[in-house]
Amino acid sequence: MAPGPARAALTEFVLKVHARCDLACDHCYVYEHADQSWRRRPVRMTPEVLRAAAGRIAEHAAAHDLPDVTVILHGGEPLLLGAERLGEVLADLRRVIDPVTRLRLGMQTNGVLLSERLCDLLAEHGVAVGVSLDGDRAANDRHRRFRSGAGSYDQVLRALALLRRPAYRRIYSGLLCTVDVRNDPIAVYESLLAQEPPRIDFLLPHATWDDPPWRPASDGTAYADWLRAVYDRWRADGRPVSVRLFDSLLSTAAGGPSGTEWLGLDPVDLAVIETDGEWEQADSLKTAYDGAPATGMTVFSHPADDVAADPLLARRRSGRAGLSDECRRCPVVDQCGGGLFAHRYGAGHFDHPSVYCADLKELIVHVNENPPAPVRLDAGLPDDFIDRLAAPTGDRVAIGRLVEAQIAIVRALLAEVADRLPAGGAGADGWAALTALDRSAPESVARIAAHPYVRAWAVDCLTGTGTGTGARQGPDYLSAIAAAAALHAGTPVRLDVPVRSGRLHLPTVGTVLMPEVGDGAARVETGPGSLRLTAGDVTVAIHTGEPGDAPRWWPTRMLAAPDVSVLLEDGDPHRDCHRLPAGDRLDDTGAARWAETFASAWQVIRDEVPGHAEELRAGLRAVVPLRRSGAGVSEASTARQAFGGVAATETDAGSLAVLLVHEFQHSKMNALLDICDLVDGTRPIDITVGWRPDPRPAEAVLHGIYAHAAVADIWRIRADRQVDGAQAVYRRYRDWTAEAIGALQRADALTPAGSRLVRQVSRSMSGWPS
Ligand code: SF4
Repeated sequence: MAPGPARAALTEFVLKVHARCDLACDHCYVYEHADQSWRRRPVRMTPEVLRAAAGRIAEHAAAHDLPDVTVILHGGEPLLLGAERLGEVLADLRRVIDPVTRLRLGMQTNGVLLSERLCDLLAEHGVAVGVSLDGDRAANDRHRRFRSGAGSYDQVLRALALLRRPAYRRIYSGLLCTVDVRNDPIAVYESLLAQEPPRIDFLLPHATWDDPPWRPASDGTAYADWLRAVYDRWRADGRPVSVRLFDSLLSTAAGGPSGTEWLGLDPVDLAVIETDGEWEQADSLKTAYDGAPATGMTVFSHPADDVAADPLLARRRSGRAGLSDECRRCPVVDQCGGGLFAHRYGAGHFDHPSVYCADLKELIVHVNENPPAPVRLDAGLPDDFIDRLAAPTGDRVAIGRLVEAQIAIVRALLAEVADRLPAGGAGADGWAALTALDRSAPESVARIAAHPYVRAWAVDCLTGTGTGTGARQGPDYLSAIAAAAALHAGTPVRLDVPVRSGRLHLPTVGTVLMPEVGDGAARVETGPGSLRLTAGDVTVAIHTGEPGDAPRWWPTRMLAAPDVSVLLEDGDPHRDCHRLPAGDRLDDTGAARWAETFASAWQVIRDEVPGHAEELRAGLRAVVPLRRSGAGVSEASTARQAFGGVAATETDAGSLAVLLVHEFQHSKMNALLDICDLVDGTRPIDITVGWRPDPRPAEAVLHGIYAHAAVADIWRIRADRQVDGAQAVYRRYRDWTAEAIGALQRADALTPAGSRLVRQVSRSMSGWPS
């Protein structure tokens, strides 16, 4: 139910691959509700229907240029297909759809038949598996029973134990629980939580105004009461798992999408394909009347575009306009959206509020009045910030917030350095100029504060840790920062700027060579695009816009592609704060080579992982060439105090693309750690990981998970494209990441925010192929 790039497109397809079930749950909407179309359908989807369905999906994805589509295998019970046929179905879907778009495969099962062999098969094809479980034994077996009357609880728990194994954990996508208000809400919640699902879906039993849900006689909002009890406990627990219903209400309360057709006004983008190839609408409509989900179209006769235009589906996609008058006037309509479409049915039409209207209203008001304590974030960041940063597709907005937070931190550090200046001493004029510029041209100061190595200098200055090259700068470097900001603002200033080892460096602008001065200072006057420097009887005039090196001027050069440009940072004296030694100033040939490789690498990133390109564009500021190691291998590094700076050895474009994505993940993690506690410092622990021989502390493992998940994602895509050797690299990174996630979770060394981040990363990986 993600809002797609093209509003008219469908992006989620439910395939009824097997239309019978081995359970006989009495609340099942497929067999027990008004629509009885299952009786006339073939038991299994034939290979012909499957191929036609896959073809229609691929055709639709191509026509709408969809970046991905989701196909959910459903039934009945899809595992009744058996391993052999299931393998053929999955292979056929991948064969037809994968070349056109990214295929996300899922399955909803009762779990009864799940075996090791089937798990291997599902893992091989990267199928995310959701299992239906209604709670503890009493709750589950109230409805989820075999025809014999025996409960299914033991079989389902066995299936979930399989899915929790490290080998299958990544295909475990969550639990689906149908609410029965006769069950104890907390016992249900606790028993679901005990299965360690990545997500829980609570479903209200399907019902209509003609056939309303069961309620205790005295309680008109029993479903709200039940869900409220779960919400309160979940909130008090610090939201240990994603609960789609609650996440959706919190998201819509903040103006975000609902992510589900159950709530909110997101357009519906789902269609069902039955075993005989008929296009249908969502199964929930089976509860309205016999034939309600029918469209009269099949995959043989109609493309998905025709289905999307079906009047009932079009109405379900029309947001507020498709609601009853009462809903349109309702104060919580943006969050509720009239509830599930099927639940609005009564007396032959859908122009009613939901039959759960009173419950939904009460629950929404309760959630709004009792928002969860935000995951502890400083800087007033939104509560879903962690989820946005964990998303594999990248989030430019979240990176923008990290950049803002970093600039605020650097401003505070600059003020602290200024506090330590002796009154009227060197640097005091620079600080005065900087504060004046901050009032008249704050963007120019922000631009300098966003430079990674300004922070590195400030921390060095305040702590005396001694990073930087031999030209390490003291507090008077504030004047250099002010002069650089003045140049960006086009504001004339006159300042005494320090010269170290014959070089005067203005961050982000360039370096003036003044060997006569050695260690000292030069008077700098800034003009529009120009500098005039005086030291004793030496006077130097510089045009800062000159593209190449001049006898006394080394401008900071750029690495650029049509939609991005970052600094090629080979002059800043504080760039040498990385784990590996920075290289010297490049000659023009070396710089041109870097520019060419960067432009090609950028094209690779845009092509393979466009979400990461968005992030890098928002946050990468500088690339520092590293000195080549004797081993000649490609190496790269980020520094804790230099957000937005990546240092790397010269390499080919494909490797540089991976290094940039990998290292920027570390940079993001460092910035996140600046504003959010992710690791519980009271439980120090060392954890063995796949990528290092020595046990690592929890924070380092967290870094590794975050970076390696991104690298695995790139290699997964390269493997999809049949790049030689990519499959093995993908598997290595994926396995390292998955094992480290398991180890970190077992170590219980994370804060709730850290746990949430790791869970989200794990969830993102759950649909990846094995
Ligand atoms: S709470 Fe009731 S009236 Fe309001 S939008 Fe939901 S179903 Fe409609």
